[in-house]
Amino acid sequence: MEQRFDVTERYAEGAQFLAGRLRGGTSGRTQAVVDPATGDEVYRYELAGPAEVDAAVEAAGRAFPEWAGATPGERSDTLHRFAAVLAEDAGELAFAESLNCGKPLKLSKEFDVPGSVDNAAFFAGAARHLEGKAAGEYSPDHTSAVRREPIGVVGSIAPWNYPLQMAAWKVLPAIAAGNTVVLKPAEITPLTSLMFAQAATRAGLPDGVLNIVSGAGRDAGEHLVGHPGVAMTSFTGSTGVGKRVAEIATGTVKRLHLELGGKAPFVVFDDADLEAAVHGAVAGALINSGQDCTAATRAYVQRPLHDAFVAGVADLMATVRLGDPFDPSTDLGPLISHTQRDRVAGFVERARGYARVVTGGEAPQGDLAKGAYYRPTLIAGAAQDSEIVQAEIFGPVLAVLPFDSDDEGIALANDTLYGLAASAWSRDVYRTGRATREIKAGCVWVNDHIPIISEMPHGGAKASGYGKDMSAYSFEEYTQVKHVMYDITGTARKDWHRTVFGDRA
Ligand code: NAD
Repeated sequence: MEQRFDVTERYAEGAQFLAGRLRGGTSGRTQAVVDPATGDEVYRYELAGPAEVDAAVEAAGRAFPEWAGATPGERSDTLHRFAAVLAEDAGELAFAESLNCGKPLKLSKEFDVPGSVDNAAFFAGAARHLEGKAAGEYSPDHTSAVRREPIGVVGSIAPWNYPLQMAAWKVLPAIAAGNTVVLKPAEITPLTSLMFAQAATRAGLPDGVLNIVSGAGRDAGEHLVGHPGVAMTSFTGSTGVGKRVAEIATGTVKRLHLELGGKAPFVVFDDADLEAAVHGAVAGALINSGQDCTAATRAYVQRPLHDAFVAGVADLMATVRLGDPFDPSTDLGPLISHTQRDRVAGFVERARGYARVVTGGEAPQGDLAKGAYYRPTLIAGAAQDSEIVQAEIFGPVLAVLPFDSDDEGIALANDTLYGLAASAWSRDVYRTGRATREIKAGCVWVNDHIPIISEMPHGGAKASGYGKDMSAYSFEEYTQVKHVMYDITGTARKDWHRTVFGDRA
């Protein structure tokens, strides 16, 4: 069950979390937090301005030496307690995530919250397993050792689609490795990031190790990325904003981690289990109302199965129940906002000019008309180079295209700017094996689409960015490797000095 609370009362002091306490912003601009299922404002706060970003970076800078100097075991203990506190808060976290994002409660309860708890538990263990090469005498005169060190203050920027999980993915590997963090959630979804940081403090994370600035992208976000006190920018969001972030970060030569947009292909070969593919496509396209960077968005179906697949997906989409996110029978909630719903509707309206809307393609009327709802939508007959097939829509919309040869199916799957995730559906291990080798993406599922686990990396190729979230691979992002070389000869005049002094060495 969810545990409800009054957001305005709880965050009366403001939506900035600096050095362990809540504060208001000083930007002079306020931001509404809206329940997208009703359009009602549930909270309003003053956005962070440059002063809050500066204060957060300063707090993170102050906290860095002690946190970086803690032993892996000490950091691990704190993260274990953090996982436990998050688990205690599960009911409130699920409530806030569903209220702020319109996610069906069953998604918040079974995916967002337990996924974040598991991430904390994973990084509590992983903190004690930082990898490096063996120390040794790679030159006869020296002992070499590798130190893996934290980078410093990390400025993290997160999107609105999975606010709690994105906070977890950005923050946990960074602090496990000894960094301190300033996290900027999307300004429309600050609630569970604040709750996450408060839970960390209750678990004993020292003040200043994790700070939250709830501010707008253009000012607080850009100020954070350009800040000279920030050593690394870790960004998850759209490819367009990612490019802007990269430009700004270059000015101060920051390390960059970019998790960007996606347009995942879903490739169905003609020997696939049709029922599995149909269910997989509908679930993979509709999860989180399609606002998932790995959602199935382009189904390529080998011609013998194409028409049956289209009919099966249309029938199944028609059974999906839109409704109140807190009603246990609801399958699909609203989109994040009316703006996003209208953006999605725009893509579909334009597609009517060149493709067939098989089902959906409208906002529901009646009780749901106030919310940002949009019906599950299936589009057939679009050309590969059309907008609906190439652009990231971020809504409950699936396009289906036929293909003939396996070569063609794989080539079509690779034919967008993006390379975040993909799936291949077949009973033939050689076909799926080939697809996993040849599809350019950070993840390829075989006979499934969407599941993620803390132990395995998540991150893109091509315009979907670079770097990995989750898993031990994320330590490559949040640590730097230092080579330490000890002379072991004890001599004043080293053998190699001949290259400078010649026979006087
Ligand atoms: P967005 O790019 O609009 O915003 C992301 C974040 O960047 C927000 O916090 C926003 O305030 C901030 N921002 C906006 N402009 C900025 C600027 N000029 N400088 C600094 N920060 C700025 O993305 P969104 O609409 O919030 O989220 C949806 C996008 O996120 C989709 O493209 C989706 O694919 C992507 N996403 C990717 C992953 C991944 O792991 N690759 C995961 C989730 C979401």
